[in-house]
Amino acid sequence: MNGSRIKVAVVPGSFDPLTNGHVDIIERSLEIFDSVVVGVLDNASKQALFSPEERVDFIRKHFEDKKDRLTVHCFSGLLVEFVRSVNSALVVRGLRAISDFDYEAQMSLINRKLDAGVETIFLTAREEHNYVSSSIVKQVALLGGDVSNMVPPEIVTALRDKIPV
Ligand code: ADP
Repeated sequence: MNGSRIKVAVVPGSFDPLTNGHVDIIERSLEIFDSVVVGVLDNASKQALFSPEERVDFIRKHFEDKKDRLTVHCFSGLLVEFVRSVNSALVVRGLRAISDFDYEAQMSLINRKLDAGVETIFLTAREEHNYVSSSIVKQVALLGGDVSNMVPPEIVTALRDKIPV
């Protein structure tokens, strides 16, 4: 890549909901790249707890003070097409332990087949976030457990509102 080009990275995911692991990957991407586009996947076949609009809103509000370099969009369809649509050629994904590796390697190979110009970069999860996933957060919250060490405070509140006790 030409060093003088502005580097726009895309951080895609379901973000249902935003976790401390996601926040860490987004913050670290902001340290490395000129700007970051978070792509919230609107996957009709996946049953989500929060609507795509709610998920986009959580991320926008959480990173309100970074909005000059961070934008959040909802997308459906092929990731490589979304990446191109925001003038990027870089995907950043987080890697937890070894469990994510097979799936992530397969996705990056498929994306390269679809568009050889789109590169995927991996950031390893911080140790303290290694066990955190949106699905674990939802499972614990649904059972009435404390998720305050896994998600930002506003998400704790949103989960409480969404899941009546
Ligand atoms: P997807 O359904 O596409 O995996 P997720 O919302 O689960 O979307 O994750 C979005 C991105 O954040 C992925 O790259 C995922 O590997 C990464 N990620 C999720 N949880 C963590 C975590 N605890 N630490 C680091 N990265 C994470």
